[in-house]
Amino acid sequence: MVDFKELGLKPELLRAIEERGYTTPTPIQEQAIPYVLMSRDVLGCAQTGTGKTAAFTLPMLEILSNGTAKARMPRSLILEPTRELAAQVDESFKKYGQYLNFTSALLTGGKGMDDQIKKLDRGVDVLIATPGRMLDLFERGEILLHDIKIFVIDEADRMLDMGFIPDIEKIAGLLPRLRQTLFFSATMPPEIRKLASQFLMNPKEVSVAPPATTAENVKQFVLRVPHSRKREALRAILQREQLKNAFIFCNRKRDIGALVESLTRHGFSVVALHGDLPQSKRDEALEKFRAGVVPFMVCSDVAARGLDIKGVDAVFNFDVPFGADDYVHRIGRTGRAGAEGKSFTFVSGDDDRLLQNIVSLIKKEIEEIKLEGFAADMPAAPEQQDRRGGRHGRSGGGHGGKGRDRDRGPRQDHRKQPHAPKEAREPRPAPIQHEPIREPRETQQPMPQQPQGAGTVGFGNDLPNFLGRQKPRPPESRKEDTF
Ligand code: AMP
Repeated sequence: MVDFKELGLKPELLRAIEERGYTTPTPIQEQAIPYVLMSRDVLGCAQTGTGKTAAFTLPMLEILSNGTAKARMPRSLILEPTRELAAQVDESFKKYGQYLNFTSALLTGGKGMDDQIKKLDRGVDVLIATPGRMLDLFERGEILLHDIKIFVIDEADRMLDMGFIPDIEKIAGLLPRLRQTLFFSATMPPEIRKLASQFLMNPKEVSVAPPATTAENVKQFVLRVPHSRKREALRAILQREQLKNAFIFCNRKRDIGALVESLTRHGFSVVALHGDLPQSKRDEALEKFRAGVVPFMVCSDVAARGLDIKGVDAVFNFDVPFGADDYVHRIGRTGRAGAEGKSFTFVSGDDDRLLQNIVSLIKKEIEEIKLEGFAADMPAAPEQQDRRGGRHGRSGGGHGGKGRDRDRGPRQDHRKQPHAPKEAREPRPAPIQHEPIREPRETQQPMPQQPQGAGTVGFGNDLPNFLGRQKPRPPESRKEDTF
């Protein structure tokens, strides 16, 4: 096995690597670093979580440490699809480059331009940007791009999904022809390959995982839940699994606020993350979640890619993602760095085709489990019925009115309440049973009361006690949008 020293990195970098606790390069680092150091173009097929960021950050630091930056003339440019990913890459440069005299600037939207311009004026070695802000600043004459020696396009398939390719083509057209280009993508479909061929010259191709595989250490489950009862099902699992933390993905930004409101009302501590929030809120939410101050993040696919937060217990697909690739990325937020993780995908009546697409992509069946008391034909909880009837928020009826309903349990620390909070108007989640009741949908009865003393059961390698297996169902269709 190769050692970091054998890769030809300077002592300052080796010291920073050692302080991170890394002993050996990951496969993508082992394959890519020597070629980047040889100034070769690289086409890398690697998902986040493989050590991909250091695979380009470390050799870039090595190369760029020999030279100095001039005002407004960055020496390298990295394009990232989201602000969060850009910030994460910036952090990597800071960490690995701490013993080098090295400057980076983060150019992302949602923040004032003044500080970014000031930084550019002082001269930066690496610019990490989202395409829109990068073009804005260029068009305002704040950046000169003719000194760019290394150009990195990261998460190319996500860029394609987000419609950034015209911007990237435009940016590439502004760069010197004689440069080194590194192109990374989690998947390598033909359109991405075609795109890569536009930007790369005689690239060295490196690949560490077949496209679209899901990590073995993430236990994947599908739950068939009536659409109107997904919130109840979510709460039931959150309460009983005693999850330390989890990402909860929704397909539509507009649903995120409503779910956050609902979970908060039920005593869960939750933050929201999606592209329509002001950047300050996005940063705050991510910081709180990362620090473990808030255990649950309800988010759009803006959080699906690359967010590197260790020790996330689970991912919920509150909605089945529209793109099968997104499924792979979403569930990749758990089970990181060899840890165990779980994913729960809620499937409602018209989601089957989406589920089939996922199964075809990942080439394995996802175990279908049944949450007792949540059969398709059971009536929705009052909260959901009310919402369908057009009532929102806390006011009115038994759902709060002035202040919070006494019966609704604590607002913050859900873990002090392992059982479902007492609900005056809502059926309780199913009891935990050692022998799950497997009744056909037609005969399933409303949920009984939670028995005294029923505890929370961890999944471990097995199914939770309150879940039972079900057979897959035939596909139907649906299409939608957003991020
Ligand atoms: P990435 O794929 O770049 O998002 O990296 C995923 C995680 O792997 C990050 O937390 C890195 O800090 C970590 N990492 C990167 N390189 C190594 C290495 N050689 N050994 C152990 N962990 C690493």
